[in-house]
Amino acid sequence: MEHSLAGKTALVTGAASGIGKAIALLYGQHGANVLVSDIDAEKGQVVVEQIKGMDVQAHFVLADVGDPAECQRLVNEAVNRYGKLDIACNNAGIGGELNKTADYSLEGWQTIININLNSVFYCLKYQLAQMAKQGTGVVVNMASILGQVGTPNSPGYVAAKHGVVGLTKTAALEYAASGIRVNAVGPAYIDTPLLSVLPADAREQLISMHPIGRLGKSDEVAELVIWLSSDKASFVTGSYYPVDGGYLAQ
Ligand code: NAD
Repeated sequence: MEHSLAGKTALVTGAASGIGKAIALLYGQHGANVLVSDIDAEKGQVVVEQIKGMDVQAHFVLADVGDPAECQRLVNEAVNRYGKLDIACNNAGIGGELNKTADYSLEGWQTIININLNSVFYCLKYQLAQMAKQGTGVVVNMASILGQVGTPNSPGYVAAKHGVVGLTKTAALEYAASGIRVNAVGPAYIDTPLLSVLPADAREQLISMHPIGRLGKSDEVAELVIWLSSDKASFVTGSYYPVDGGYLAQ
């Protein structure tokens, strides 16, 4: 395994499961010290132990990204433990309510916007302040194909992910000349626990929507995130990268 991130400090939110877990593990494999954050301490600690076996440092931080103070504390933890924050992957997210717009509850709307969109603003706000002080840093935001196109029955999720893409472009423009790169990744449907909110008969239908003929794997998203986080992507900022089995090509 190439150690393209040796000596770097990487923070991943929502790192106890699915895509975030795969990203945290791959950061460790590439030589980064990893701050594993989630609201699930038990599963998060399992990820930390796996990363520690890779001869790098790893720590778990319990933090709800829907709370700005906790997003600030996450950055402080990185700085206190490792002296800097080189890489942040703002990945934590939920699937949210499944209903047509007229039937979507006000509470469901507030929840998904808070966890999937406000959280990315909160994280960016404190991460960029720290990275600007350092004069260097990389952020990868977890968007979705649903940050580019709509789908019925998920107005909150679609609006939040479109917002994540907009925040990504704005932050990239603001900090491009300050040594900080900000990009977004847009997975199609990836086989993780997040998809468990969907009705059982929806799986085959989802597969048929991907020209490649299957759902994606968390590792396939993680590979793209690691590349964007490394110096190999040194001229890449403000971009949205699909990892979608051809979904958006149709
Ligand atoms: P997952 O459910 O497997 O993992 C999400 C993790 O986020 C969990 O460990 C959960 O505990 C954590 N989390 C939830 N709310 C949190 C909060 N308030 N604060 C901190 N952590 C919180 O889901 P996943 O499929 O790995 O999704 C990860 C990201 O990828 C999400 O942003 C999701 O929208 C995005 N995404 C997923 C898919 C897919 O098909 N699975 C497709 C496109 C984008």
